[in-house]
Amino acid sequence: MNDDETMIQTDILVIGSGVAGLAFALKVSPFASVALVTKKGVMDSNTTHAQGGIASVFGQLDSFALHIQDTLEAGDGLCHREVVEQVVKNGPERIRELIDLGVKFNLSRQDADNLDLGQEGGHSRKRIVHAQDMTGLELERVLVDHLHRDPRIRLFENHVAIDLITCSTRMKRGTVTTGHEDVCLGAYVLDRQTQQVKTFAARITLLATGGAGKVYLYTSNPDVATGDGIAMAYRAGATVANLEFVQFHPTCLYHPEAKNFLISEAVRGEGAVLVDQAGRRFMERYDPRKELACRDVVARAIDTELKQSGDDTVYLDISHRPADFIKERFPNLYRRCLEFGFDMTRQPIPVVPAAHYMCGGVVTDLLGRTDIQRLYAVGETACTGLHGANRLASNSLIEALVYADRAARQAAADLAGFDVGAAPAPAPWDEVGTSDSDERIVVSHNWDEIRRCMWNYVGIVRSDKRLERAQRRIENINNEIREYYWNFKVEPPLIELRNIATVADLIVRCALHRKESRGLHYNIAYPRRDDRRWRKDTVLRRAYVG
Ligand SMILES: Cc1cc2nc3c(=O)[nH]c(=O)nc-3n(C[C@H](O)[C@H](O)[C@H](O)COP(=O)(O)OP(=O)(O)OC[C@H]3O[C@@H](n4cnc5c(N)ncnc54)[C@H](O)[C@@H]3O)c2cc1C
Repeated sequence: MNDDETMIQTDILVIGSGVAGLAFALKVSPFASVALVTKKGVMDSNTTHAQGGIASVFGQLDSFALHIQDTLEAGDGLCHREVVEQVVKNGPERIRELIDLGVKFNLSRQDADNLDLGQEGGHSRKRIVHAQDMTGLELERVLVDHLHRDPRIRLFENHVAIDLITCSTRMKRGTVTTGHEDVCLGAYVLDRQTQQVKTFAARITLLATGGAGKVYLYTSNPDVATGDGIAMAYRAGATVANLEFVQFHPTCLYHPEAKNFLISEAVRGEGAVLVDQAGRRFMERYDPRKELACRDVVARAIDTELKQSGDDTVYLDISHRPADFIKERFPNLYRRCLEFGFDMTRQPIPVVPAAHYMCGGVVTDLLGRTDIQRLYAVGETACTGLHGANRLASNSLIEALVYADRAARQAAADLAGFDVGAAPAPAPWDEVGTSDSDERIVVSHNWDEIRRCMWNYVGIVRSDKRLERAQRRIENINNEIREYYWNFKVEPPLIELRNIATVADLIVRCALHRKESRGLHYNIAYPRRDDRRWRKDTVLRRAYVG
């Protein structure tokens, strides 16, 4: 296909270079040309930061039935059973594929023919396949290496997708309308280096843009996690769901310079205990599983302890385990903690909760298809129905791998069936009437305000009053952004601000809609789960909640 500088044609456009985008790209490249755009470097992703590992059934004492049961239990009544079965049963095959690609998982000390399996909160058996405590980095290393060697995949780093293009896209500025019969034609993408907006015309587009942790002031996520895929899909008219279910990781290192540094669940899996300032354990007052309770229970317990005591932090203590074991099992955590002045082999580490994982997202079917034709979504940006109201630890990498595989197979069938001439060519980007910004302070101020507002009013414990307050503020900010967006040339901070504001609004609307407490959503006005009225997903379409 012929390209000019700003019009790139490809069979398949992949947006995002985490595990979802990379695994999908490698699977479709044998039968299609692929353009993969990613907003910073290829390794900048949530995936790279994943520590604990990948949940899958390999243990002799384990079974698909148990993994399914644990996932359903964590999901608190909202998981889609057929999705859970699909992910769990396909898991081991996807892990074997990774091993064949060259991923080096830890092997059992007792039996080097078997994988070493870790234990994490909410899992009734040891089933966490891992590469020391840097599993995500190892995945990215291997997948990126294969990507670089694949001549059918063109990689565009430092390219920020702005908006999807659909048949009903109305220029100017990629504003789009509804339409569930709509067809995706590609995306407008800003090249950070040239500052040009390019039009990527594609027969199939995959959103693999990851999570939205940056919507909150404190997060374990890297800077790229601004919910862009959810916001773009929603603007394009796709259905999104369950955005009230934001997982807060209970244990991020508390240190002014330790931005986004997470202490993996696996540390509690290996026996670490949580204590208060006086060294007293407190988890037994909240759950019989103590430190191995699900994340939401542990995060809420810490939140309660901190609010009651007025302290800034609680502590995680694994110093009773042998130092050699800790150093070997958690080399990265050990090293990073030491950099911040904490020796985890000898002392408790100060920890606080932080926004970690988005269970909701763009609604897809069992093959990763959204309700816009030719638009797929895989990974953290999608809402497949696997996680329900709460994700079981280490179920997200396996979800991304299984859905990348399912979506790739379906994409092959789609491409074989398409009439190439059927869809219109997308219109080029139009920036007539815009100028360079002279008011960047508006953007940085609003970034900060949204994230603080979400942390204070839409966090671990919610109330209708706080949610309504948040809604009013975010609406004002959204109005300001809209005005600003139409007058100035797009720049990455503005693109991301527009997206975090959209996602914040969607989270608040979902949270206000659900009048109960379930899974990760806890509202003090409705402290109990209400299956009679609320055992259903929160589904949002533009101008519709139902
Ligand atoms: C600290 C940490 C530890 C974790 N540990 C585990 C674990 O042990 N086990 C587990 O299962 N899960 C874990 N998770 C969650 C898991 O890592 C993620 O859910 C998963 O990696 C998401 O993969 P993804 O491909 O969907 O998204 P990501 O890996 O986040 O990749 C998204 C990609 O999209 C790009 N992108 C975003 N917006 C745009 C745009 N507008 N234009 C172009 N590119 C864009 C990003 O730059 C990035 O390359 C952890 C997460 C974190 C943050």
